[in-house]
Amino acid sequence: MKITDVSAVYPNYQNVPASWRTHFWQIVVKVETDAGVTGYGYGGGGRAAVEVVNRHFSELVEGCDLNSVGDIAAIWDSVYLESLPYGRKGVAVMALSGLDLALFDALGKAEGKPVYELLGGARKGAIFSYATGADSQWYGELGFKATKFPHRWTGEADYDTAVHSATIAREAMGDDGMVMIDTYMSWDSDVTTRMSELLKPFNIYWFEDVCTPDELDAQAQLRPVASPTLIAGGEHEFTHYGFAEIARAGALDLWQPDITWCGGITAGLRILDIARKEGIPVAPHRGGEVWGLHLIAASDCMDLAEVLPGMRDASRDDLWTGEPSAENGHISPTDTPGFGVTLNEDML
Ligand SMILES: [Mg+2]
Repeated sequence: MKITDVSAVYPNYQNVPASWRTHFWQIVVKVETDAGVTGYGYGGGGRAAVEVVNRHFSELVEGCDLNSVGDIAAIWDSVYLESLPYGRKGVAVMALSGLDLALFDALGKAEGKPVYELLGGARKGAIFSYATGADSQWYGELGFKATKFPHRWTGEADYDTAVHSATIAREAMGDDGMVMIDTYMSWDSDVTTRMSELLKPFNIYWFEDVCTPDELDAQAQLRPVASPTLIAGGEHEFTHYGFAEIARAGALDLWQPDITWCGGITAGLRILDIARKEGIPVAPHRGGEVWGLHLIAASDCMDLAEVLPGMRDASRDDLWTGEPSAENGHISPTDTPGFGVTLNEDML
């Protein structure tokens, strides 16, 4: 089949995610084909990325063949190269991610296969999930045995707030559960070193984004300091080129590419190729959303998917219908063709 139209739109969000995070600025990319199937993808980069897709990528991609995963990789390479002067990282690659995922969705629909089948088939059963957010107790009630809580460093008092939150999270997950901490780049080497000592009794599985993604050497030096807690990160890195730099620096124990930002599934597969050689486990950021979940199911990603339940009784935007939800702390992609979700047009 041939691609006849490519467009992007920024949804009309009513509720920002009910947690500590800022808005993800996610966009929807739509790919239409002469076979009558329409693919939808989810990207980052907000209204700027919408412009990149509508005013540049569309003219590059319309008319291209879309008959195989190899065709998608060829389109990825061509769009990456054409956008390279202003791209390589950030908004342009977030836009490319949405395009790549829309191509996978369209191909899956055309072949009547879920995306994980396009990738060689499921290699895991229901995927073990962790709940990210500040309501560990509720996540425990929902059946999760793993959680990650946010912690922002604002000053000395935050050694106590970290211990306090770790106490609640460990109690909610039980001794055999998993507890992780996401600092969203607010700790530094000194804070991480002190936290490693203070939090030892809580057996934290990983500290995430303790530094900015540019501080690769600092993170490499923290790996033995924090051990056995892992130094994790990668949601703010892009493509296999970016992860090759992380590998060269030996910066991280565990990689967390965001499949809707890092360049889609095409980039995710290439990042996995590097990780396999380096012996680094990969657990995609927001991997419980279908875009990452199909890759986790069909690859040697860790058996671990991030789910964002938000806070108890909070309102949410339902942009996609048909999304799988976690049951007893596990989540599986559906076998509906493509990513198996339908866009809620009321939000456009
Ligand atoms: Mg994070």
